[in-house]
Amino acid sequence: MEAATYGAQPVYLDYNATAPMRREALAATRDALYTVGNASSIHHHGRDAASRVDRARRQLADLLGCSPGELIFTSGATEANNLALQASYAQHGLIITSAVEHPAVLETARALAGSTSDALITLPVDSKGQIDPEALRATVQLHGAALVSIMMANNETGVISDLTPVIEAAHAVGALVHTDATQYVGRLPLDLGDLDVDLLSLSAHKFGGPQGVGALFIRRGTPLPQHPLVFGGGHERGWRAGTLNVPGIVGLGAAAEAARREISDEAPRIIKLRDLLESEILARLPHSHVNGALAPRLPGVASITFPGAPADALLSSMPNVAASDGSACSAGAPTPSHVLLAMGLSREAADSTIRFSLGFATTEQEIRRAIDATVRAVTHVQAVMDATAGP
Ligand code: PMP
Repeated sequence: MEAATYGAQPVYLDYNATAPMRREALAATRDALYTVGNASSIHHHGRDAASRVDRARRQLADLLGCSPGELIFTSGATEANNLALQASYAQHGLIITSAVEHPAVLETARALAGSTSDALITLPVDSKGQIDPEALRATVQLHGAALVSIMMANNETGVISDLTPVIEAAHAVGALVHTDATQYVGRLPLDLGDLDVDLLSLSAHKFGGPQGVGALFIRRGTPLPQHPLVFGGGHERGWRAGTLNVPGIVGLGAAAEAARREISDEAPRIIKLRDLLESEILARLPHSHVNGALAPRLPGVASITFPGAPADALLSSMPNVAASDGSACSAGAPTPSHVLLAMGLSREAADSTIRFSLGFATTEQEIRRAIDATVRAVTHVQAVMDATAGP
């Protein structure tokens, strides 16, 4: 439950952007950095590096309930999503996805479809942030073989998708199912023995591993011809050329093992802290509301709208809390959150929303500090906005 470098003064509530490294992951990564050896070399040092990679693959497979041979290491979830979408699109020429996906899915799908209007179908979501399973079923039945890509949990709201009807509908017509599980893996238990997705993307830095490393799960027997994005050596069974990032992969494996061990204690503890944050803020700021509150959500995500208080002004009024306005991945972009707009929020409401994301090292004391700082900042910014609004 301890984080490696943590306890800097501002309260860190931006785990969905990136989590601190778990101690086990930091130790394993550092240890691997001190060793030499290319995992493809056949001498002693190469074999040592390869066996560290094998171990990490097993550790990740244990977290996911899959077999190690079903995992391809990548530079992160963006690359894993690209690999899944590009390979599937090359085969089927059609992607069916949702309006609230991460840009790593949406932008990839748009780039692949280009101006071909019938190559991409983006399903809307309701105010809870979920797609209508009947609409999905009808779309899939109409189009047949395609890639259906629906995220496991949303990065901005934490809303969890019900993938069971998606999988049933897609498989009934021979479509493949990909899920971007970047925010889910390591936060809630997952068993790919029970959940019959064909492809799944993940990223180490969301569950306490290093940045810049992730994986794509490809279920054994999935009818998907090999389709690398970069060509070169035959690494990762030909799916991903390039010398393996041994320290990163080793850190990912150690984080996966620690997450697996801790998950059943961590998840309820984090839910309690998230509920404390939300209930106190709603009680003290009665005009605020939580997005996605009516859907099942990840333990550690609170997306809260503060009407009349723009998020950028709020965040600069509470420098002791590191949270995010919408998705950190699109920070700096002037457009409002596509996720919140898709859920029916106005542009103004979307722009007045903060995402707090908690994780394994978050403490109750930190949450209490964050509550006080947020209430002060919202009260201050709303008063300034009212004063400058004019008659
Ligand atoms: N998908 C989701 C849902 C994410 O939250 C993120 C990271 N913000 C990504 C994909 C991209 O992951 P990475 O940083 O590993 O490229």
